[in-house]
Amino acid sequence: MKQKIFPEIELKRPIIISGPCSAETEKQTIETAHALSKIGIKIFRAGIWKPRTRPGLFEGVGKIGLKWLKKVKEETGMRTCVEVATKLHVRQVVEYDIDAVWLGSRTTVNPFAVKEVANALAKTNLTVFVKNPINPDIDLWVGAFERLSNVGITKLCAIHRGFSVYGNSVYRNPPQWQIPIELHRRLPNLPILTDPSHICGTPNHLKEVCQKALDLNFDGLMIETHITPEHSLSDKQQQISPEELNNLLNSLIIRKSESENESQDELIGYRKQIDSIDFHIIDLLNERMKISKDIGNYKRNKNITIFQSARYNELIESRIKTAKELGLSPEFITDIFKSIHEESVSSQ
Ligand code: PEP
Ligand code: MN
Repeated sequence: MKQKIFPEIELKRPIIISGPCSAETEKQTIETAHALSKIGIKIFRAGIWKPRTRPGLFEGVGKIGLKWLKKVKEETGMRTCVEVATKLHVRQVVEYDIDAVWLGSRTTVNPFAVKEVANALAKTNLTVFVKNPINPDIDLWVGAFERLSNVGITKLCAIHRGFSVYGNSVYRNPPQWQIPIELHRRLPNLPILTDPSHICGTPNHLKEVCQKALDLNFDGLMIETHITPEHSLSDKQQQISPEELNNLLNSLIIRKSESENESQDELIGYRKQIDSIDFHIIDLLNERMKISKDIGNYKRNKNITIFQSARYNELIESRIKTAKELGLSPEFITDIFKSIHEESVSSQ
């Protein structure tokens, strides 16, 4: 059973958290919140202490923003959340009746900071979201959850916001989906949301990243919105308006998870077929390997080298040709036969 992030309220899946990168003014915060509340958003985010990679950028309004968030909660009934990185932040958040906090990517990488925040959070009833660390290190991410659970925090949720890379990419932070998938394998009861705003860095690809997260059965999305995106003071390129968010959400296909899928007979049938094909593949590989060993003995007796590059090239090319005729990807077939061939050579 997945843990509930706000056990006291009923949240429809996918869970959507939205709000500006930063609370900038009272007006911008309250207007964004009302526009989001109107389209049914129940959880509002806004950063008030902004961890900027370089100095000189907008670093957030600080404590005064907590007052505005309290007002958002009173006026709209939305749950509110902010980023915290120190014990002082946690203390101030509690004073203003904030419901949840998130640890940003730059905090998750630092075990000292995680420990400090975890200890401060231990005495509160806050829900805690943990963004993935900036670098693709699953253990740092898992470690943050362990530190938080060890001090008794139970309302935990992961936020997948992509991973930093050097050089060009269509993404600001490439998603590397295998990492949140591995997190789910290791911590199956932990809900996971995807933050497509920080993955994409612009509205380009936003929809496909949201859809991918839903197709992977992640629990929801955290998406940055601003009442006037063009005037945003932080992460301007990636803010969308509440109206654009509404259109985006309406365009997504929400699939049923397996447990909601009442008649699973068809799915079970397909899986049985896949199982039987997989075991057949293993049998065939075993047969192939036996022949390969015979070839090895033959070559040894005749004093011939094991690796023959002409034969290898001819093998790969002929497999690719057939694969293409069947509509299979040449890269996929090349990878498989490279790996089979490597194993054959090493066993000879
Ligand atoms: C943010 O949520 O605005 C933020 C700073 O995110 P991250 O820690 O993912 O960079
Ligand atoms: Mn941001």
